[in-house]
Amino acid sequence: MSINIKKIIKINELLIKHFGVPERQNPLPNPLDTLIATILSQNTNDNNSYKAFNNLKKTFNNWEEASNASKKEIEKLIKVAGLANSKSYAIKNLLNELKKRNDFKLNFLTKESYKNIIDELTKFKGIGVKTASCVLLFSLNRNICPVDTHLHRILNRIKLVNTKTPEKTFWELNKNFPDKIAHTFHTNLILLGREICKPIKPNCSICPIEKMCQFDKKNFITDKKETKKRILLLDNIGI
Ligand code: SF4
Repeated sequence: MSINIKKIIKINELLIKHFGVPERQNPLPNPLDTLIATILSQNTNDNNSYKAFNNLKKTFNNWEEASNASKKEIEKLIKVAGLANSKSYAIKNLLNELKKRNDFKLNFLTKESYKNIIDELTKFKGIGVKTASCVLLFSLNRNICPVDTHLHRILNRIKLVNTKTPEKTFWELNKNFPDKIAHTFHTNLILLGREICKPIKPNCSICPIEKMCQFDKKNFITDKKETKKRILLLDNIGI
């Protein structure tokens, strides 16, 4: 199935109207920071993964120094992010390998095609396509759109794709993704997934892309708590 580029561009415009243009980090984070932060972010909230990342950053002067720490030490520092055993294993394995290559800047990635970069990064245990594609978008500034569970759910609901897993959605979406909009599209769809198009009871009555969505189980019954929260929010910002 070929992807509907016009639909992506239109959705991107509607999401910008609703959420604005998301800011980019300046300068872009280095690829190894993004890799480790994304490993830590799996199955936890932003707050806890940020705390775990900061614990590592405060304890070690650089990633080379962290590579000399034991797995146990790393596990203790990142405990707040959950799954500390598997995450510390992935981090330690990655750092050991980079030490062997003497390449903590991941220079081996920069000139490769996006498919080669994903191939290379997913050879490391504990690094999947989503983590690798975050490095491409956030650190290497490639026009590649990572797909997490929010994007996978929404893109299937609006019938832009018809896929069974986030990884399949990723390959389908990025076959022919429109220029320059991957960061905005990705970031705003995550916001939509967190705030409006939730897994259960999406709030379709306030959805900015409702007219473009072909989900057959739309929900227009407004949750009273959500409505109250929204009225309070609008009051606070004076609308
Ligand atoms: S209309 Fe409903 S199901 Fe469709 S994208 Fe919006 S919130 Fe999700």
